[in-house]
Amino acid sequence: MKNLISITALFFALGCSHSIKAPIEKNKFVKLTSYSEIIDFVKQSKVRNKLIDIEYFAVSAEGKNIPALTISKDNFTNSNKIRVMIFAQQHGDEQSGKEGLLLLLNDIATGNLDYLFDRLDVILVPQVNPDGSEKDTRRNGNNVDLNRNHLVLSESETTGLHELFYKYLPDATLDVHEYFPYSKDWLEYGYLKNYDEQIGTLTNPNVSSNIVKMQKEEYLKYINDYLTKSGFSYNEYIVGGPPQMNRIRYSTIDVNDGRQSFGILNSFSFIQEGKNGTNSLENIEHRTRGQYQGMKGFLQYLYNNSREIKSLVKRERDKLINPSLDEDIVIRMEHVKGDSPVMIKLKSISTGEDSIFKVDDFNSKICTYLEVKKPKGYLLPKTDTKLKALIDKHHMKYSEFTANKNESIVQYHILDMKKSIDEEDEHFDPVVKEEVVVNLDTSHYYYVQTNQLASNLIVIAFEPQSMLGISQYADYNYLFEKEKYPILKVVEIK
Ligand SMILES: [Zn+2]
Repeated sequence: MKNLISITALFFALGCSHSIKAPIEKNKFVKLTSYSEIIDFVKQSKVRNKLIDIEYFAVSAEGKNIPALTISKDNFTNSNKIRVMIFAQQHGDEQSGKEGLLLLLNDIATGNLDYLFDRLDVILVPQVNPDGSEKDTRRNGNNVDLNRNHLVLSESETTGLHELFYKYLPDATLDVHEYFPYSKDWLEYGYLKNYDEQIGTLTNPNVSSNIVKMQKEEYLKYINDYLTKSGFSYNEYIVGGPPQMNRIRYSTIDVNDGRQSFGILNSFSFIQEGKNGTNSLENIEHRTRGQYQGMKGFLQYLYNNSREIKSLVKRERDKLINPSLDEDIVIRMEHVKGDSPVMIKLKSISTGEDSIFKVDDFNSKICTYLEVKKPKGYLLPKTDTKLKALIDKHHMKYSEFTANKNESIVQYHILDMKKSIDEEDEHFDPVVKEEVVVNLDTSHYYYVQTNQLASNLIVIAFEPQSMLGISQYADYNYLFEKEKYPILKVVEIK
């Protein structure tokens, strides 16, 4: 009898890796996974599969250690592999991304997906915002929207995520969210967006058009098919509406979110938006499984196309590191009506039936209002410790400036301060003139050149007229205080 028991115990121990459930499954989808359950589960996963390692990349505002899982067959040493980072729950009240990512981690822990790591090195962050998650609120413990914080990086969670990015330099990233279809306007309209998953590509016009082309023409088709076959509905991510009441457009061109802040470095970067419930628990099993399928489909696509994406990202990043002269960078822009109407599917609240709506004025295009020639670089006053901290956080390289007879230094004068509304938000729109500066003591400046990975981001961040620049943020409004803009640019003399 004793032998029988120990054989049973052994059998259970051998089989248990397959029978272990993610916390939400164990809780039968009636309770959301807590921070402490995540910590226990990630530790358990590391024990179950030796490819998995844990790295704590940040401490939240309220003191929680935030884990990332790194998964590799050769400890991230094989440069031919695609590096991928998937991160979820920047918004604490969008719970299904975290739950879906833990389901994916559970699969990986069983070893059933080990084949993926022949071609992929993966970094998973199930929960960027544990403080918000525990309270089921959008913002972090400092009441900051983390997904608007990726330029100024004032928060430890976003700063840590960018540290993680620069440590591994992923070729591809996926930022997982949920959209909330039940706003007052839509409820009154009587129809709802009803897609299990919406996937958004890069939208900022300064991102490599070759990357966006592959995203739109290949990935979106693939993931639509993948999700549909797995029983989940798909749409390309759109925001706004209802039709005729508010404009409908693709998502923000700003570089301060999780998708685009990595995308502007020419990463193959997306946002995935699952459909939220009217509350965080409603329909959570279906929501979790939809997010899981979207993430698994993303990994499978990268595995299938690893060589092509690796070389695409390398080629497009090389263009940032060796920028061509006379390149234009778009710094003011807006979504405008496209050439043709777009059909969207909406669900009737009263009948539950789907209807197709023709949206004639769908804002599918980006209109450019202001472009600047990419300069050789910018001079940042060394006395400005905030700017110094910012360029360090973005891993922007800088040096002492050495004068070159083919270059001149230009300072902006702020002549007038206007405002504009773009993407439904107000932005400063300064009127400037340029003046060549001579006899400047450049030893008081750091020289941030544009021949680096952050090339386009540097221009967007430091140009005074940029609607997405740092001076638009309260913390950096002081840059506009004086008539002379304190950041100077270095241009080549023709
Ligand atoms: Zn979100």
